Amino acid sequence: MTTEIVIVDPEKIESSENDIKNAAEIIKSGGLVAFPTETVYGLGGDGTNPDAARKIYSAKGRPSDNPLIIHIANPSDAEKYTFTNETYYKLAERFMPGPLTVVMKAKDSVPKETRGGLDTVAVRCPSHPVAHRLIELSDRPIAAPSANLSGSPSPTSAHHVIDDMQGRVDMIIDGGDCEIGLESTIVKLEDDGSLLLLRPGRITLSELACVAQISVADAVTDRLREGEVALSPGMKYRHYAPSAPLVLLDGELSCVIEYIKSKKHEKAAILCYTDDKIRVAENLPDADIYVLGARDNINEQAHHLFSILRDADKQSYDIIYAPLPSMDGVGLALYNRMIRAAAHTVIKLRQE
Ligand code: AMP
Ligand code: MG
Repeated sequence: MTTEIVIVDPEKIESSENDIKNAAEIIKSGGLVAFPTETVYGLGGDGTNPDAARKIYSAKGRPSDNPLIIHIANPSDAEKYTFTNETYYKLAERFMPGPLTVVMKAKDSVPKETRGGLDTVAVRCPSHPVAHRLIELSDRPIAAPSANLSGSPSPTSAHHVIDDMQGRVDMIIDGGDCEIGLESTIVKLEDDGSLLLLRPGRITLSELACVAQISVADAVTDRLREGEVALSPGMKYRHYAPSAPLVLLDGELSCVIEYIKSKKHEKAAILCYTDDKIRVAENLPDADIYVLGARDNINEQAHHLFSILRDADKQSYDIIYAPLPSMDGVGLALYNRMIRAAAHTVIKLRQE
């Protein structure tokens, strides 16, 4: 398949109205369009068309029991596809449009292929102007998982999407880098109005706790135990995995440096904070260094993480070291992605 690539400036979408209209026509006729959102790039198809869902699974190489999020233009459009309640509208008022996905009981208007066979469906109303206009012009919900091949880091720029999806989708809309760089926060809305956090993201636990009672699914921080059922099917798959093993180091910078020095790996990559770059470079001159962002700027780190993992993947390292993030605020989202990319390999380093 030939993939058309169009560039749209998110600040001037009026001048690309025709391109977005063409993209909407592709969605309406059952085709696939990759498009930018404020979180990561999405791989979109008609959320009401079972064939489009099948095409999405096949383009990504994604297991078809891992459901798709449907993207809507306005929070109230959720009525057409789900059974909402008062908490949904409280969440909508505070966080929509934006990086929050809400899982609710599905109506029959969403085919079971889109929902991965579940009786619930995940709904999100993105704030990115290109995503918003594309959904509006498509005049239907757009089912869109992240536009990466299953198992590789989510794409945060159009060239990531081109690397993974060229020849597999009808169109890629290049709208520049995604602001957030991590996927949306996902909550499940329970019948009693309480929430269960299934996937952390930019919208934090404490922000959500201001709206409704919320608990955290074990799989956000822990490994699934044998025989345990994943509440969010995506949790059971290895995700965000670089090809070299990623090892998270928990300890002071001096201990981290000593630890890496003591290892005689041929080719190591080190992810570090901007603040530590000079010390790391002086002490470990043979390692390749990737800067995540300032130590106290978790949003900056989140913005760079997937891009760094993709760049590191191209270098065939023997091992990649990174600092273990804290679990505070947006840190929980970073922790969740990194701990899974590292297959839970954390080394606790103690000061001598
Ligand atoms: P992605 O589209 O790549 O951001 O992944 C979507 C995530 O949402 C996956 O981890 C899915 O398992 C999760 N998800 C989608 N629909 C549901 C649902 N109905 N219930 C629970 N999790 C869902
Ligand atoms: Mg994904």
